[in-house]
Amino acid sequence: MSKFWSSAVKRSDPYVPGEQITNANMIKLNTNENPYPPSPLVFDAIKNEADQSLRLYPSPTVDTLRKEIADLYELEKEHVFIGNGSDEVLAFSFMAFFEPGQAIRYPDISYSFYPVYAKLFDIPVEEIPLQDDFTLDPKDYYHSEGGVIFPNPNAPTSLYLDLTAIEDILRNNKDKVVIVDEAYVDFAEESAVDLLKKYDNLLIIQTMSKSRALAGLRLGFALGSPELIEGLVRIKDSFNSYTIDRLAIVGGVAAIKDKAYFTETKNKVIATRNWVTKELENLGFTVLPSQTNFLFVTHPEKDAALLYERLKENHVLIRYFDKSRIENFIRITIGTDEEMKRFFQVLNKIG
Ligand SMILES: *Cc1c(COP(=O)(O)O)cnc(C)c1O
Repeated sequence: MSKFWSSAVKRSDPYVPGEQITNANMIKLNTNENPYPPSPLVFDAIKNEADQSLRLYPSPTVDTLRKEIADLYELEKEHVFIGNGSDEVLAFSFMAFFEPGQAIRYPDISYSFYPVYAKLFDIPVEEIPLQDDFTLDPKDYYHSEGGVIFPNPNAPTSLYLDLTAIEDILRNNKDKVVIVDEAYVDFAEESAVDLLKKYDNLLIIQTMSKSRALAGLRLGFALGSPELIEGLVRIKDSFNSYTIDRLAIVGGVAAIKDKAYFTETKNKVIATRNWVTKELENLGFTVLPSQTNFLFVTHPEKDAALLYERLKENHVLIRYFDKSRIENFIRITIGTDEEMKRFFQVLNKIG
């Protein structure tokens, strides 16, 4: 603690991201990155843009990318907000739609950035326990005081909540914003985007970090009514007019345009996820039915923390959360088939 710190800094409890290891020998299955490269069109677009135009500020409204994303979802650009990664969109959303002193609700097992924002912005929280099977009961979210946020599919459980349940939550929070964090939705059944037509309290947040393999470019976006989008723009323009740089704008547009590459790599990840699930079940693991690019698993006879350590010693990095209710689970990002074969070799070796 420093006497020079503001009360916001003093109460903050910053997020600790998964390790970014530079060791090329390490198989990295710990932060849900895509194992495939971005679309080749992304590289072309960035190379073309890397010229003397970098002298000039980028577009503060990012209309080209907003239009591209709007077209993808049959919306207008007024329904789209772009951020520097969806973490930034989440931070702006907490500020724009949640009120200090009014408790928001999210699941007890969920994305660990939510409590960080809540603390920073002085928003009280009600962490609602998921049911014993880690599913979410919509009734627990009715009539929240300050709003609701949850990922769908949830992280780190990998479980998908169907749209009737989401609609139920929206209907019972008419005057509060319900944020659905769809970081992994491209690997799942369907997005809640169609519900935007019926519910002006819905904000959907997605990222280009996972399904579009652009974690390093930092692009996330929100979909919502023009009124909600304007709220986000007002917050952004109170911090920084230019959150998205020129290279990211053209790279993002190219990634959305290349639908064939997106579908191909997404389907490859899903196919790998399905065989890895079966293989882990054959080894006696319980695998939650994943609709994401990762698996959340436990084993009746194996200690999860030890498994994490032993895998790491053998150059396979996964994620372990030392947190009650999930202390005997590990989270495994889906890699390429080759990486997952190597993962199983190591798993068999360490027993
Ligand atoms: C990865 C992730 C994000 C953040 O992604 P960005 O890289 O900041 O776009 C947000 N929410 C959840 C649940 C995630 O897993």
